[in-house]
Amino acid sequence: MANGIKKVEHLYRSKLPDIEISDHLPLHSYCFERVAEFADRPCLIDGATDRTYSFSEVELISRKVAAGLAKLGLQQGQVVMLLLPNCIEFAFVFMGASVRGAIVTTANPFYKPGEIAKQAKAAGARIIVTLAAYVEKLADLQSHDVLVITIDDAPKEGCQHISVLTEADETQCPAVKIHPDDVVALPYSSGTTGLPKGVMLTHKGLVSSVAQQVDGENPNLYFHSEDVILCVLPLFHIYSLNSVLLCALRAGAATLIMQKFNLTTCLELIQKYKVTVAPIVPPIVLDITKSPIVSQYDVSSVRIIMSGAAPLGKELEDALRERFPKAIFGQGYGMTEAGPVLAMNLAFAKNPFPVKSGSCGTVVRNAQIKILDTETGESLPHNQAGEICIRGPEIMKGYINDPESTAATIDEEGWLHTGDVGYIDDDEEIFIVDRVKEIIKYKGFQVAPAELEALLVAHPSIADAAVVPQKHEETGEVPVAFVVKSSEISEQEIKEFVAKQVVFYKKIHRVYFVDAIPKSPSGKILRKDLRSRLAAK
Ligand code: AMP
Repeated sequence: MANGIKKVEHLYRSKLPDIEISDHLPLHSYCFERVAEFADRPCLIDGATDRTYSFSEVELISRKVAAGLAKLGLQQGQVVMLLLPNCIEFAFVFMGASVRGAIVTTANPFYKPGEIAKQAKAAGARIIVTLAAYVEKLADLQSHDVLVITIDDAPKEGCQHISVLTEADETQCPAVKIHPDDVVALPYSSGTTGLPKGVMLTHKGLVSSVAQQVDGENPNLYFHSEDVILCVLPLFHIYSLNSVLLCALRAGAATLIMQKFNLTTCLELIQKYKVTVAPIVPPIVLDITKSPIVSQYDVSSVRIIMSGAAPLGKELEDALRERFPKAIFGQGYGMTEAGPVLAMNLAFAKNPFPVKSGSCGTVVRNAQIKILDTETGESLPHNQAGEICIRGPEIMKGYINDPESTAATIDEEGWLHTGDVGYIDDDEEIFIVDRVKEIIKYKGFQVAPAELEALLVAHPSIADAAVVPQKHEETGEVPVAFVVKSSEISEQEIKEFVAKQVVFYKKIHRVYFVDAIPKSPSGKILRKDLRSRLAAK
């Protein structure tokens, strides 16, 4: 309030009415609420082997896993790490952990040992479920009393086999009382600044997010029980875990699991299983539009294609529409901390609305968005760009063991500040135009500059360093470093030094040697300056 005049708050809501959300239910009870209706329908299909489990089997195995976890000594509220590529067991253990009242932290199985150890220790993981091939990467954790379970047919020495979970006696599953605010998923994200942090997603939060997408008369994202949903995006990222697996379980749709993306295999599977919904990311859109092979397959079953996790240009969006003329194409907008879905394209609604190219959707139901001027913090009217903030039951509870970062992200009124800059047009559609946060997005994967900067300055020949994104046609962005040397070192040596310690998408692509890193008086790296320098190069 200035001079006694209250400023107008411009708040944006969905064009669809709010819905009743079953937010008192634990996540598994909510997802399996209608399991009797779909009991014998295919629920999980492994695209590589055709192995298929029905809804009733998946629900039963989830309870077996819960019993198995309890038998192994895992208590309610304790953490299981999933270090897995997409596979059926991922879903079994995630849902089983929910039944147990436990928490799942997900990590990229391609992480290097140091990256895995950091997350596993920070999250307090007691059990890690992985492939035999990755067990060697867990050597650092042996002294931490972590039990390793592998899903391969031949169990690895010193590890338990997944059958201790999937074949446990479900009648021995202890009853637990789960509170809606209990945490069930703990993905890692660097948010708007700093190092990766554990994002606490609760039962109520995930139930709300799934409901916002697929529940009600006219859902934002219309999945139905005849649908076959392509699950090619990694389940360790919350986009796939939530908007593919959990939404499909709730809606009674089949999830077709692909371990990794390959365009030919993907098209073969779409044709074979008559896939109806294909959630993808911009690099896959690029692949599809560049490859002539799409026309060799029957993809006429696909009725929805959605892209999210990173920006997608209007030209690419239009090119994709030409390849799949029968499908509705649109973008969704997510952020791990937002649970993750902020906006969904109303072209996917049961009674669709017309949408514009480049729009990343309209805010989900039962939530509000406001757009804040990045200089003054004032809330902005339609068509003016500012920082996107969201408030609703789906957002994270906070960062684990990090009240300071939580308070810097969720304000006292409950608004989550995304660090994305965008505007809302007269049709309530959101357009993202920039980012005021540090994060780099490589093919939709997060790279936290602070993490790479910490590695760089640990090198004895590096006095100071800053990492920023550089635009890249294929991947969207790549990390590049500005480095101040303290003794002789080459660009190649720096790249190799980092590459040894990080997963492939965090590798430094270019090193620019400078005399000093520009910083504010308080010591903050002036990333905008560095980004402008790059743009000028
Ligand atoms: P993550 O937490 O890994 O899901 O990353 C979230 C961030 O990805 C968002 O805050 C945006 O910066 C970006 N992002 C997600 N969806 C979109 C989209 N449709 N268009 C542009 N950027 C997006």
